[in-house]
Amino acid sequence: MRARIYPLALGKMIKHALDDLNKEVAGLLVGKYLKRGDILEVWDAITGEQKSTPGFVYLEEETIATAAEWVLRNRPGLYIVGWYHSHPGFEVFLSAIDIETQKLYQRLFPKAVALVIDPVKYAKTRRLQDLNFKIFRINLKGEVMVVPVSIGIQRRKLLESTLRGIETMELKYIVGGVGPDLSVSIEAEFGYWSDKLASSLSKFLRKIKDRTGSHTQP
Ligand SMILES: [Zn+2]
Repeated sequence: MRARIYPLALGKMIKHALDDLNKEVAGLLVGKYLKRGDILEVWDAITGEQKSTPGFVYLEEETIATAAEWVLRNRPGLYIVGWYHSHPGFEVFLSAIDIETQKLYQRLFPKAVALVIDPVKYAKTRRLQDLNFKIFRINLKGEVMVVPVSIGIQRRKLLESTLRGIETMELKYIVGGVGPDLSVSIEAEFGYWSDKLASSLSKFLRKIKDRTGSHTQP
């Protein structure tokens, strides 16, 4: 698989990552999968309520479900194709927890990818070559693979993705339900979150599938 990302989507993620260099930020990728050519296109980015520390971030499961519904209603033909998060100052890779999170996303959205940005060097220099981001996926053997990525320049899609994305020039912020405040360890939080996410999202996806047929098809 290859990924193609349109400039406004990437711009929104970079801006979000630059907003706070002291902690990780996260959001969701909106786009579509093109069977022909095996290409995943990222058209837009949205975000919402999240828990964050300098080394860990996750989106509330309610937020993801609400976001998936928002995309379905407001971005016809597009759906959630993965997630992004920042690694301020510690390079781009998938941590052990990121790998587990990504496996969940791939279970829920089969073509899902994970985009990781380290914004620190770019924040200092504002030079394009210092922009550090990569897209990852987990293969069938459970290994982390880097997905080759290019910037979308196809004229019609560039215009269309910009027009859609500009409706929410500020990154769309989804407010889900208020989750319980867990001040326990990250591992425990993550285990709790992944169970809740898997169950609430699978319920949600069943509902969506009943309404639209499989939303994982382009
Ligand atoms: Zn991470």
